[in-house]
Amino acid sequence: MVAQVSSSASSPHRYVIIGNGVAGNQAAEGLRERDPDGLITIITNSRMLFYNRYLLPQLFRAHQDWRALLAYPPGHYEKHRIRVLRDCWVTAVDSRKRQVMLAHNEAISYDTLLVATGGRPYLPEELVECRHLIHPFGTYEHALAVRKALPENGSVVMLGGDMIGLDLARTLLDLSYRVILVTHENTFWPHQPVGEERSKFLAILQKMGLEVVDGDAMGGVVAIEKGAAGLPERRVRFRQGGDIYGDIVMSFYGLSPLVEFMMKSGTDIERGLLVGTNLRTSDPHIYAAGDVCQIWSEKDNVYRFYYGHRNVRAMGAVAALNMTGGNEHFSTTQDEALFQNEQGHIDSPFWAYD
Ligand SMILES: Cc1cc2nc3c(=O)[nH]c(=O)nc-3n(C[C@H](O)[C@H](O)[C@H](O)COP(=O)(O)OP(=O)(O)OC[C@H]3O[C@@H](n4cnc5c(N)ncnc54)[C@H](O)[C@@H]3O)c2cc1C
Repeated sequence: MVAQVSSSASSPHRYVIIGNGVAGNQAAEGLRERDPDGLITIITNSRMLFYNRYLLPQLFRAHQDWRALLAYPPGHYEKHRIRVLRDCWVTAVDSRKRQVMLAHNEAISYDTLLVATGGRPYLPEELVECRHLIHPFGTYEHALAVRKALPENGSVVMLGGDMIGLDLARTLLDLSYRVILVTHENTFWPHQPVGEERSKFLAILQKMGLEVVDGDAMGGVVAIEKGAAGLPERRVRFRQGGDIYGDIVMSFYGLSPLVEFMMKSGTDIERGLLVGTNLRTSDPHIYAAGDVCQIWSEKDNVYRFYYGHRNVRAMGAVAALNMTGGNEHFSTTQDEALFQNEQGHIDSPFWAYD
């Protein structure tokens, strides 16, 4: 048990958290518990308060509105005196002045900063030009747009797969949509089964009802176009010839960490923000937690990502402890192997929600 700290009455400590997701909210709760007088500010580019993205596939089953997805009742932040700045884009962090710069030219000062900005869906370079013809699936607004664009019993071409896409596919199949999966090396991201194991999991996907197209054998996707009159809305063309049609195209190639605004902060970055197991970056006043950070692994001798709700929550808690003078270390007890569940479906231990 680590003792509570207290900001001095004359100058309460200023904690700023960039990101209103699982890691940021867990950290805010921990900070409030440990420092009753501290000033806690969460900054998010989202217009919504923290909602459960894991429930987004459920929007296809019941026409729930956003209120059903909120993780906390609306009074939560007021009760815990946590200020939330919504619809605010962080464009840079000035670590010398200890300021977070917002797109509308406001600067927010901090004593200790937590970066918990997660990741954005990764899109391979060759598909960037076709982005406007692809439906992303990361936010409530994205899910609504997909629901609107998809005709009853319509077809979805899913590029890649990844566990976010495969989770959505399960729901879509259940509701009698067609799901055509174009495989890619990230089909099971963040898992990377190879050889026989990958073939076994691809066979399970087929048994689940997905129509599996071997993307590699076709040379990969080369373009996405609008379908011709009388045909479905989208055409996916392969490098080695051949095409498939669908009502919508969605891409699921895993996530890449949202770190661009940290580039001039002087903190060490590889793909994500590099942190030790205490979640501190190379700047002693800046911490990172969640999908945005790569944590040093003594065992693997590399900085690596740790995904899944359980890991991300644990990171938020460790960051809060250390930002308030603790000396805790993140370690995972999370099982990391893909498996087949009792319904015969492919499942990921990362996707356990508790
Ligand atoms: C649709 C979807 C479904 C998923 N389902 C599951 C699941 O069922 N189980 C599971 O374990 N994982 C799931 N994941 C992965 C999961 O999102 C992450 O592991 C976890 O939520 C990461 O939490 P985080 O706090 O690190 O980041 P996030 O939850 O991604 O939060 C990042 C926050 O940072 C904000 N932000 C980013 N950049 C900026 C900026 N420049 N300025 C201001 N704010 C910014 C964002 O608006 C957001 O509030 C899913 C992901 C998606 C996209």
